[in-house]
Amino acid sequence: MKVLILGNGQLGQMLGQAAIQLGQECLLINTRTDQVMPVAAHHPLNISIADAVEWADIVTWEHEQISDAHVQLAAHKLLTDPAQIRPLTHRQEEKSLCDQLGLATAPWQPFANASELKDILSNWEGKAVIKAAEGGYDGKGQWRWAPGEAIEPLLATAGQQPGIVESMIPFSREVSVVGARHRDGHHLCYSLVENVHTQGILSHTLAGLTDIPAHLQVTAEAWFARLTEHLGYVGTLAIEFFVVGEGDQSQLLVNEIAPRVHNSGHWSQSGSNCSQFGLHIRALTGMPMPALTMQPTLMLNVIGVDGIPAPLWEHAATYPFWYGKDARPGRKVGHVNVALEHGNEAADWINDWSNRLQMLQDD
Ligand code: ATP
Ligand code: MG
Repeated sequence: MKVLILGNGQLGQMLGQAAIQLGQECLLINTRTDQVMPVAAHHPLNISIADAVEWADIVTWEHEQISDAHVQLAAHKLLTDPAQIRPLTHRQEEKSLCDQLGLATAPWQPFANASELKDILSNWEGKAVIKAAEGGYDGKGQWRWAPGEAIEPLLATAGQQPGIVESMIPFSREVSVVGARHRDGHHLCYSLVENVHTQGILSHTLAGLTDIPAHLQVTAEAWFARLTEHLGYVGTLAIEFFVVGEGDQSQLLVNEIAPRVHNSGHWSQSGSNCSQFGLHIRALTGMPMPALTMQPTLMLNVIGVDGIPAPLWEHAATYPFWYGKDARPGRKVGHVNVALEHGNEAADWINDWSNRLQMLQDD
């Protein structure tokens, strides 16, 4: 089948490679310039978007910020109604959807402006995280507040757009479920993975390396199924969670939902029989989805640095991915998957490499 992807960043490129591996054809749209791009070259093709949509059997996306113009052009070839995933691009609507579906979240309240934010914080108990309703990613568009701290400075920043206030969760860990809903309606999920964030940006993912209680997997999959069925969603989707409590007493709170392939699924490019990108293409094109395996894998994000150091290109256990982007502090420019035997090896790899691979923004 012919697959057209809205967006040609690293996620689009990786989807394109997966499509080709599965015998499908693929083109990408640079959604900023409206150019049609091939997989694996940054050289636009001399055809219009309308022609590319006409060429395609299926249109899908690498990011969920889809313009009305693109929706109009491609609506008849999208397998998920973009109107259904629109709430997931707006934190107030995303949280309301979770409430509606009975998916637990941190306690939260919406605000429309600075004066509503002031009222909420004046009565808030405990520490809070304030998030802009739209446009935030990698920790951007977020502010922290603790009781006793001045509210006024926040009104001039956080209060300048609609947003939410939510409780700061003293989580024991963060995990995510990545899975796909097939066009025939059935779904499959990978086992939960653990994610560690620094300054709100994903530093590394531990897949098959930490003990995650089995009851959390059951809950995560049940919520994945409830959500994707409600949305009529087809393809790969990720749900990020906070885990509160320990062991048998632990529970999940939904933090964020990404209706697309997700950074916390990158371990699957070398750690599974089917990557999250292959899973997306299979779900869309109607190919079989296999029982998903997980070999112990550490995914280290490469952030803001000029390149991946030579030892990580040379080591027998590493799978480096470089996105071909210019480095900027806080910008994801690659990742390195490391195949490990045991969880206790992960700490050494993280200690040895995460600082060298990550240049974050100054606080
Ligand atoms: P992404 O790049 O994943 O879309 P984001 O910037 O949109 O991230 P979140 O996922 O909401 O935003 O937050 C980033 C990280 O900040 C979380 O993974 C978590 O580590 C921390 N964080 C966010 N909200 C809370 C909270 N309520 N309590 C504790 N930590 C939080
Ligand atoms: Mg997040």
